[in-house]
Amino acid sequence: MPDILPPGSTIGVLGGGQLGRMIALAAAPLGLKTHIFAHHADEPACQVASAMTTGEWTDEAALARFADAVDVVTYEFENVPAATAAFLAARKPVRPGPLALEKTQDRLFEKDFLNGLGIPTAPYAAVENAGALARQVGQIGRPSILKTRRFGYDGKGQFLLREGSDVGAAFRALGGAPCILEGFVPFEREVSVIGARGVDGTFAAFDVCENEHENHILSVTRAPARMAPETAAQAFEICHKILDALDYVGVIAVEMFLVAETGPDGVRREKVVVNEIAPRVHNSGHWTIEGAETSQFEQHVRAICGWPLGSAKIRGQVEMRNLIGDEADRWREIAAEPGAALHLYGKAEARPGRKMGHVTRVILPAAR
Ligand code: AMP
Repeated sequence: MPDILPPGSTIGVLGGGQLGRMIALAAAPLGLKTHIFAHHADEPACQVASAMTTGEWTDEAALARFADAVDVVTYEFENVPAATAAFLAARKPVRPGPLALEKTQDRLFEKDFLNGLGIPTAPYAAVENAGALARQVGQIGRPSILKTRRFGYDGKGQFLLREGSDVGAAFRALGGAPCILEGFVPFEREVSVIGARGVDGTFAAFDVCENEHENHILSVTRAPARMAPETAAQAFEICHKILDALDYVGVIAVEMFLVAETGPDGVRREKVVVNEIAPRVHNSGHWTIEGAETSQFEQHVRAICGWPLGSAKIRGQVEMRNLIGDEADRWREIAAEPGAALHLYGKAEARPGRKMGHVTRVILPAAR
């Protein structure tokens, strides 16, 4: 199977959301086509791609047609079933490979994987039932967070255990699903590293960015993050290590907590602790479209097509704001603002909590 896909090749994307849409929009200027595998024909990515196949993840006839029509397969969300990824990997290169899905779909496997690499995480333990939860809360202490092992996103499938919270109720609230309990990390800020690895193993990462959430949904990303250069170097090293260990091809997002302490000597010490990994392009990397020399979407396309990675250099001070629900109704006002880059995802209905678009503002460095 060829590692290098020339212009004119077709990228198959599993998932029809805004991430797939922005991958398709980044592929087009490089002369590459995209073919989306989605559940419905009106999803955001389908509106801008060259072709689409609609079907369920288990529809092998549809998956086979899709595989025949594309040169490489990638995905815009990490809950692609393992059987779907394996079915496609037998027919076309899947990048990033199924190992990345296996390690990141389950919070327990992910934490075990990170700890196996010596990468710091919150203290954690597997929890299979309410009795185990009571024991583990005794070990890990409070506050701690109970999370379902699989299918959690935007704070869904989580329960914060404070002093006095009822342990049995916490387990029931998450439907009795297999969980992990995590110690609460007293972080100063949340940051992420968007990195990439090419088919030849080359590594590139964008500046570390910092993320603010509202109601568990990403609200604002700012780059570069305020942190010591040594801490940023530590964050890049962690990202690089993860990519190499997964023999990864494509863009990855590593979400981290920045923890800072001022010692008795008055010296501030910072470190990063990994929260979670997304084996895909990520909302906290949208700022790179206008804010870096290559966007995360183009970088992903370059990586999975075996092209040289682009420059990840930042262009200035960047702020990306998500437009959630009816915030996108402000599109006219934003469109009139000089320097504001408006992105709308083509979603028909603005439900509360739904990501409808984003706006990026880059403050360019003063000319010398
Ligand atoms: P997650 O879905 O794991 O990214 O968690 C959603 C949000 O919950 C994170 O962005 C943090 O704000 C918070 N959170 C998750 N895990 C922890 C933790 N172990 N300690 C402190 N805050 C956490």
